[in-house]
Amino acid sequence: MKLNDTIVALATPSGAGAIAIIRVSGPEAISIVSPVFKAKSGKKLEDQPSHTLHLGNVIDAERIIDEVLVSVFRAPKSYTGEETIEISCHGSPYIQQEIIQLMIRKGCRSAEAGEFTLRAFLNGKMDLSQAEAVADLISSENQASHQMAMQQMRGGFSNEIQRLRQELLDFASLIELELDFAEEDVEFANRNQFKELIARIQQVLKRLIDSFATGNVLKNGIPVAIVGEPNVGKSTLLNSLLNEERAIVSEIAGTTRDTIEDEMAIGGVGFRFIDTAGIRETQDVVESIGIKRTFEKISQAQVVVFLLNAEKFKELSSEFKIEIEKIKNKFPQKPLLIIANKTDRIEETERERLIQELEIISENNERSQFLLLSAKTGSGVEELKDKLLDFVNTGELRNNNTIVTNSRHYNALLQSLEEINKVQDGLNSNLSGDLLAIDIRQALYHFGEITGEITNDDLLGNIFANFCIGK
Ligand code: GDP
Repeated sequence: MKLNDTIVALATPSGAGAIAIIRVSGPEAISIVSPVFKAKSGKKLEDQPSHTLHLGNVIDAERIIDEVLVSVFRAPKSYTGEETIEISCHGSPYIQQEIIQLMIRKGCRSAEAGEFTLRAFLNGKMDLSQAEAVADLISSENQASHQMAMQQMRGGFSNEIQRLRQELLDFASLIELELDFAEEDVEFANRNQFKELIARIQQVLKRLIDSFATGNVLKNGIPVAIVGEPNVGKSTLLNSLLNEERAIVSEIAGTTRDTIEDEMAIGGVGFRFIDTAGIRETQDVVESIGIKRTFEKISQAQVVVFLLNAEKFKELSSEFKIEIEKIKNKFPQKPLLIIANKTDRIEETERERLIQELEIISENNERSQFLLLSAKTGSGVEELKDKLLDFVNTGELRNNNTIVTNSRHYNALLQSLEEINKVQDGLNSNLSGDLLAIDIRQALYHFGEITGEITNDDLLGNIFANFCIGK
């Protein structure tokens, strides 16, 4: 990838739209666009200052291609840090292509995926983790993933990492300085202060590493397993949550044999509902495979919803108890929500008895609760949404804590921590400065991987290849 040429790409989605934006960035951006743009004002684009807008025509020889609006961004005050022109044209694919082809004939090269952001990174406009957040921001589908990407783009934890890296670097220099005075037995780096810094770094790293679990589920949707015998109303419940008839609702028991996933945002947080076949003991081979799969799905879920039929509670309460106990024993840490569905079909007295019994069965504590609901009428559905939000730990997000969502960062953090632990061991056992310095350098290396101070072409290629063209 050459970086001293001028690149062009469509920045808006391909296809027809009201308008489309074509981006041109590089040293020749303004001088390439200027001769093919005729401003209504008669002014020459080349003479225009940064951050100005100009109405005019894009002209190929004598032919007008389109009436457009051109924005001028002068280096270094642009997204890429280079001279940049953005052409807002009418959104016909024909016009888009005509303009792009014209730019290429006049000396631009077609940009590769993520090349604008790559240039922004290489020109110091953002660090690597911020650049990666741009991709997350573009793909964010709900409030939670949007918030995490925004936070990372604003600097997020890379500022924190950078500060710690600098402090560590200062100590590394002092220790390496000591090596130059080896004969004189001096100590420039105060070992106690150094130990204190290492402890601080460990704390930050551990917090960030732990946040990855939260980050990952928030980014991909929080998996919720819905467990219940066939016909209890799983699909109806999902439909009323979704407010549309997406899953197939059927009268025949056992139709939900395979697992289906439905995604939706509740209170700005993405949820993934995994419909399971239930765990009722059975002789049926197909259904017993279903039970095994249900347990697998529960183990992958963050929350379990156990759905029972309120109408059958009188007759089946002991069976429900056994099934609930089974889930609790197998997954004692997992938040469990017991829902009695079809409560529109039971009498008030039965309802009261149900509440009393479910209070006992569920234990009604922080991790295990119950709810009366009717998927059909929708009563209790709002309460269910509230309970789901309470169950998942969105506290970290609400408190605006930094959350790591990128597995590359996560791995670099794990490796940094490993090296920092080695440094700590070395300090505690009075390891000689030269050996200590090696471990510190390793830790610094992994810190640098996150922010992009340490990179190689393969890594950059990998990261930016995941971007769309034009970003
Ligand atoms: P699934 O097999 O668990 O997915 O169950 P379905 O969602 O297919 O529901 C089975 C039947 O129960 C359907 O006829 C639904 O209309 C009915 N049903 C579901 N929820 C309720 C409810 O809350 N009240 C009543 N009266 N019927 C319900």
